[in-house]
Amino acid sequence: MVKVIRYGEKRRITCEVCGALLEFEKDDVKTVQTGMNEYEQQIECPACNETVTVD
Ligand SMILES: [Zn+2]
Repeated sequence: MVKVIRYGEKRRITCEVCGALLEFEKDDVKTVQTGMNEYEQQIECPACNETVTVD
């Protein structure tokens, strides 16, 4: 069984639109339904205000 040892760990991703390196936490990620049973984790890039999909 997988356990979460530490919450709030920051992750980094590069915005594909403007190339900015973004640092985000779990609280910044919103889950958006994109299909019947498809969901995407997304954050908003503060530099260009575009939606960035998180893996
Ligand atoms: Zn951006």
